[in-house]
Amino acid sequence: MIAYLECFVSESRPDDGVSSLSKALGLQGTVADFGGEAGRDFGGMKSFPPLAFIRPAGADDVARVVKAAARSSNLTVAARGNGHSINGQAMADRGLVLDMRSLGEHFRVVRASDGSVYADVSGGALWEDVLKRCVFEYRMTPRSWTDYLSLTVGGTLSNAGVSGQAFRYGPQTSNVTELEVVTGKGEIFNCSETENSELFFGALGGLGQFGIITRARVLLQPAPDMVRWIRLVYTEFDDFTRDAELLVTRQDDGGDSFDYVEGFAFVNSNNPADGRPSVPLDPQETFDPAHLPPTSGPILYCLELAHHYRNTDRPSTVDTGVNGLLGGLGFVEELKFQLDLSYVEFLLRVKRAEEHAKANGIWDAPHPWLNMFVSKSDIADFDRTVFKKILKDGIGGPMLVYPLRRSKWDTRTSVVLPESEIFYIVALLRFTPPYPKGPSAENLVAQNQEIIQYCTRKGFDFKLYLPHYRSQEDWKRHFGSDQWSRFVERKTCFDPMAILAPGQKIFSRVPQP
Ligand code: FAD
Repeated sequence: MIAYLECFVSESRPDDGVSSLSKALGLQGTVADFGGEAGRDFGGMKSFPPLAFIRPAGADDVARVVKAAARSSNLTVAARGNGHSINGQAMADRGLVLDMRSLGEHFRVVRASDGSVYADVSGGALWEDVLKRCVFEYRMTPRSWTDYLSLTVGGTLSNAGVSGQAFRYGPQTSNVTELEVVTGKGEIFNCSETENSELFFGALGGLGQFGIITRARVLLQPAPDMVRWIRLVYTEFDDFTRDAELLVTRQDDGGDSFDYVEGFAFVNSNNPADGRPSVPLDPQETFDPAHLPPTSGPILYCLELAHHYRNTDRPSTVDTGVNGLLGGLGFVEELKFQLDLSYVEFLLRVKRAEEHAKANGIWDAPHPWLNMFVSKSDIADFDRTVFKKILKDGIGGPMLVYPLRRSKWDTRTSVVLPESEIFYIVALLRFTPPYPKGPSAENLVAQNQEIIQYCTRKGFDFKLYLPHYRSQEDWKRHFGSDQWSRFVERKTCFDPMAILAPGQKIFSRVPQP
């Protein structure tokens, strides 16, 4: 069988390759094709066709594929979640790509003796499907989310999974208690904080380097019915960050806060994509610039908040609660926007933006996105130079900026963070509309580099999120010496031949003699 795989590696491929490969590997699942979507991703800037795109039926199939690759001279294996990476991270250049979404559906709600409730879900499940099953069948919900939910459980857990709930509950990696993982040796392990803990913490935020997550146990809590979604406009960055930081720390002092806190910078212009019209939530509401003070600059800021409530709560109770939470905040009073919607609609809000972007043809255009974590001590300088100068004309999409708290992250995982307790996620979610013709994706990537170089030159305490580097030296710098040593030790232990996730370009496949 290995000889058979090897013949795939050589240029000549048997005509009946697809079905024969599946049989040769003894898979329950199928082999889809020899390229297509597995050689592309959401970033739309890289393309590495694989040798085969395999649809595993379960963890056993995943293990078989990894073991077969291990016995070949140089094959690699990439788990592909929903391919929503930007820089080819889920690709395997002439290797084997696993379509994780094809893993058999696995969904089970588990009640522990201490009353905690969990959902066991497939590593290839989309978060939007997990949401719907938890809420509609059990009136329960995971606690920590991403903004967009057409992402897989294994894909976000391999990074972190961050949204407006993370200030309170930590990222998604802090909200799972158990994983099933197939290592780079093709072994299947259950792991948790107390069982195979190195593999558990290694896989969380591990960029797919130590194993393929085939199942995760996700902590649940009762789901609210409704959400009041609020946007508040600020003209001064200092006021915006003061209030955002107050809201993400207030519960520590015994105070109450919102259930979701995010924020973004936008352009003081009439551009629908990233200017004032992008702020109102209800199509009936408009942003009247007459309410802005004459001193307003080219960039404005918006705090985005959400308050959960139940159908049975009286409207006056909801109003009083929300007004209490808003008391003392320094936003422009007349520029407050709000919308009441169901909890599920709120969590699926980016799906509507996706439908819109698909209709406009910008969903499939390249996305030269940049995601970073920038320490609180450097965020004002970042604003002055990056938002107000380099990006003063906007990016054609959202420029997220909101605070997170290091103490809510488990530092035993593989995720890399800045040093300070409060740091900001900055997400430059660039869209490049085909018409009118804007800057090329290459120019926008160069602008991202300019931003990274500025932060490096100024000695900022920052890290890339969803990182992408070309050399191992850069990866070492990214991790820092202690975390890099731990990362290498885990790699040596769980994937010694560097078979897994080659698209991250951290380690090179060790050839089989
Ligand atoms: P893929 O892109 O398919 O894979 C990502 C990496 O994980 C690859 O290296 C792959 O090999 C590996 N991998 C995939 N599945 C597994 C598995 N089961 N086990 C082990 N390794 C695996 N991120 C946030 O944190 N917050 C957000 O709000 C957010 N919003 C987003 C919105 C959009 C529109 C997009 C495109 C991305 C967003 N992201 C966000 C980023 C997203 O979390 C990452 O790109 C994530 O990797 C995408 O998940 P995926 O399932 O498509 O993974």
